[in-house]
Amino acid sequence: MLEFNELSVRYGLGVEALNQISLSAPVGKITAVIGGNGAGKSTLMRAASGVLSFHGGTVAGGTVSLDGKNITGLSASGIVARGLVHVPEGRKIFGDLTVLDNLKAGGATVKSGRTRDRVLGEILELFPILAERQSQRAGLLSGGQQQILAICRGMMSSPRVMLLDEPTLGLAPQTVEQVAGVIQQINSRGITVVVVEQNAAMALGIADFGTVIEQGRVVLSDEASVLRGSADVQRLFLGGN
Ligand code: ATP
Repeated sequence: MLEFNELSVRYGLGVEALNQISLSAPVGKITAVIGGNGAGKSTLMRAASGVLSFHGGTVAGGTVSLDGKNITGLSASGIVARGLVHVPEGRKIFGDLTVLDNLKAGGATVKSGRTRDRVLGEILELFPILAERQSQRAGLLSGGQQQILAICRGMMSSPRVMLLDEPTLGLAPQTVEQVAGVIQQINSRGITVVVVEQNAAMALGIADFGTVIEQGRVVLSDEASVLRGSADVQRLFLGGN
């Protein structure tokens, strides 16, 4: 289980991006974190995966723990080694490298070459689109395919927990559905997923649990089905009145 315990994060001296956020992502489930622009969603992911300092942020209080162990302040590679992978917003694939080399880059921290090859084989079997395009430059893939590649690159280190930051940002509705299907597929392999989204309909549609954050604070946390029925969530995020 991934847990945020009263986590506060600041950027520089001024911006308090998270203010005593507590939330947990149960093992084997999909947890959606929704909220508007600047709510603190990306910051939450960065704090968990140890990349906050690359963005000028620091933990000002509280902890992040993985399976009961405090991981706050560990290096990004140390956190990957503990089984948590973060697929950042904007995909950040290597456009000039081939699809295959992008996937291999995701497995760079895996020591055993045999394990790496096995996982790579599984991914290519699971996602034929990547197998078909493995020798093409990744930059030539469509937006949806690039997102699938970014998720699969994260899968290469055989994580137990995956954090997905806005995986459907900028994608056409049909492609959104495709990416949602990929997220469900990886979750069905036992991977715990935390998905951060402005597309609340998609995220709450596939999630077991959901948390709404606003201005760095948790305002609602419940089963996703309950949040889907909430008048506030409908009004704020699902286009209801
Ligand atoms: P979006 O969907 O727009 O990315 P978000 O919910 O992911 O929003 P964050 O990006 O986590 O929100 O931002 C939370 C707050 O922290 C905002 O006030 C934002 O301006 C600020 N912030 C984010 N990144 C930085 C940074 N690198 N330096 C300074 N302030 C930042």
